[in-house]
Amino acid sequence: MQLDDQLNLEIAGYRIALDSSGSLGNICFVSHAHSDHMRAIRNKERRILASKPTFALAGVDEIDAREIALDGVKIDMLPSGHMLGARQLRVEWDSQSFTYTGDLKLSESLTAERAQVRETDYLLLEGTFGNPRYKFPDRAEIYERIASFVSKNYNDGHIVLLGGYALGKAQELIAIVNRFCGIKPIVSEKIHKACEVYSRFGVRLETACVGSEEAEELMRSNFVAIMPFHQVNFELAVKLSKAYRRSVYTAVATGWALTTRFPVDEAFPLSDHADFEELLEYVELARPKRIYCCHGNEELLSHELSKRGYDAQPAAKSEIQLHLEVR
Ligand SMILES: [Zn+2]
Repeated sequence: MQLDDQLNLEIAGYRIALDSSGSLGNICFVSHAHSDHMRAIRNKERRILASKPTFALAGVDEIDAREIALDGVKIDMLPSGHMLGARQLRVEWDSQSFTYTGDLKLSESLTAERAQVRETDYLLLEGTFGNPRYKFPDRAEIYERIASFVSKNYNDGHIVLLGGYALGKAQELIAIVNRFCGIKPIVSEKIHKACEVYSRFGVRLETACVGSEEAEELMRSNFVAIMPFHQVNFELAVKLSKAYRRSVYTAVATGWALTTRFPVDEAFPLSDHADFEELLEYVELARPKRIYCCHGNEELLSHELSKRGYDAQPAAKSEIQLHLEVR
């Protein structure tokens, strides 16, 4: 078993590209439907390992992952909790196990399957928020804060704009607004299409697509809209306020709200990723012999894990190939 600096895993004569373009890999694992992880999914020459919701969200023909069997290698795709369909890859070969987390979140959410943690010999761990300064509040508490921001401003007759990543975060915001505020928000076409896939996989979301008759009707009064993150700011609020002659309140939802200011009234630290403590919790449960860190904060997370007695090092920045021990 061998892992190179481009996150290609070689195992039993196979090469599995982990969320990469798979230029060398004959098999590609696509952990979830965010564009930075999905480069390989439309490549018809590669064999793709991905969940059914990920294929559906990518808008490509579904290929049953179970068709891919590797001689002598046991493959499991475990929920990673990051968004609908997000999976970790766990492989077992020659009585050794290797797990790649993909993007990970342990806390339970309204719209993603709960993450599963299994013991593993080798762990390739994402470290987006792999810094002790990142500690997110309890998810239920953030839900409450978002719901009260929306309800208060909406009930006062104002327009409310919420911004979040169009895949995953927007659907979670819609679920919050549906369930806790009893409001059907107006959404962009892209967000609406993703919601249809969520509904197909059992996560029911109520939305009105912008441009539809229903949305036009809702916009005759004050309304709530959920939009891609980068579109929501004070500039848009001023424009809409003039056009609709109402006050407009804006908010975004992102883990980076802990450390970054955004041009909106409120920024809620609602993240699709594990914070530092959740990453530690994952490692404690998975009990790996060795950890490789990837996807941001690799150096710091490796350092923090090493301080706590784990054998940890950055994966992607390593110039040499990382040879996993073969017993
Ligand atoms: Zn992601």
